[in-house]
Amino acid sequence: MINFLKLSSLEDVTEMLWADGPAALLIAGGTDILVHPEPFAEKQILIDISQVEELRKIELEQPGLIKIGAAVTHQEIADHPLIRRRARLLGLACAAVGSIQIRNLGTIGGNLGNASPAGDSIPALACLKAEVVLTGRDRQRLVPIMEFFKGPGETVAGFDEIIEAVKIPVRQGRTVAFFKKAGQRKGMCCSKASVALVARRHSDERLSNVCVAMGAVGPKVIDVPEAARALEGQVLGAQAILQASDCCCRAVRAIDDIRSTAKYRRHIVGALLTEGLLEIYDHMRKLKKRRKRRQGRRR
Ligand SMILES: Cc1cc2nc3c(=O)[nH]c(=O)nc-3n(C[C@H](O)[C@H](O)[C@H](O)COP(=O)(O)OP(=O)(O)OC[C@H]3O[C@@H](n4cnc5c(N)ncnc54)[C@H](O)[C@@H]3O)c2cc1C
Repeated sequence: MINFLKLSSLEDVTEMLWADGPAALLIAGGTDILVHPEPFAEKQILIDISQVEELRKIELEQPGLIKIGAAVTHQEIADHPLIRRRARLLGLACAAVGSIQIRNLGTIGGNLGNASPAGDSIPALACLKAEVVLTGRDRQRLVPIMEFFKGPGETVAGFDEIIEAVKIPVRQGRTVAFFKKAGQRKGMCCSKASVALVARRHSDERLSNVCVAMGAVGPKVIDVPEAARALEGQVLGAQAILQASDCCCRAVRAIDDIRSTAKYRRHIVGALLTEGLLEIYDHMRKLKKRRKRRQGRRR
């Protein structure tokens, strides 16, 4: 028999983990655990953290740092004004998770704790240089997102630690961003492959501070600095787009599995990146036209 505990303070959770860590299993939205309970058959205590006050907030911790509590749901992130204004890429990725029912239950902490290479928030967090806050009874540490995962289903978190939050440095200047995923169908499905990009947009249409990351195409999220370099300082054009797309295809480390084949994944990341960049190109053209019209009216 498994004991079920619903706790409301972070201190109580860390005390429990300290005392019973290996036997305990944290549950937030339950959208992963309840669908795949098999790996947790040995656990004796289920700790529901969905109502822990400290884990339920999105706040600006300092002027340049957003803190998102681990039990905040994907939908809450996608809808939050601070995320829409200052970390839009993460909002786009969270809005692409499953369906409205899954987004209303599934949390960002669960997405990280599950450590699936297909977790949609992860490439966005990688582009945004997020850090994971791991908290134990007497300690707290910050782990850069790229170092948080050891492999599929495995993280660096200890038995006595909970993911308390993720912290995201706010980017300066005007940004452009996209999150694109390919799945079996449009909604309610995990990614076969995903691509996230964020960059600073300059008034002369050049991009800078470009970051590109891919999900579900390797044992962990893949950062693609070569693709970022191909776009850095460039005004978007066919050559830069093709080069960046080629870099993404080359960086794929996928295997064939139940969701897709390595060959398809290698192909589709290039197409996803191209689609996203063409949308940015269109957006910038529209902004340019609007600017010209405004200048014409002033004359
Ligand atoms: C139909 C369906 C569609 C889905 N579609 C997508 C999709 O498109 N994209 C996607 O990324 N995912 C998808 N998922 C997977 C899932 O919804 C997400 O991974 C979600 O974010 C999990 O969050 P949760 O709160 O429900 O996690 P839970 O099931 O509660 O927990 C998952 C794991 O994380 C651990 N955990 C939870 N919170 C913490 C914490 N604070 N600290 C440490 N460990 C913690 C748990 O112990 C467990 O091991 C889908 C799932 C279903 C059932």
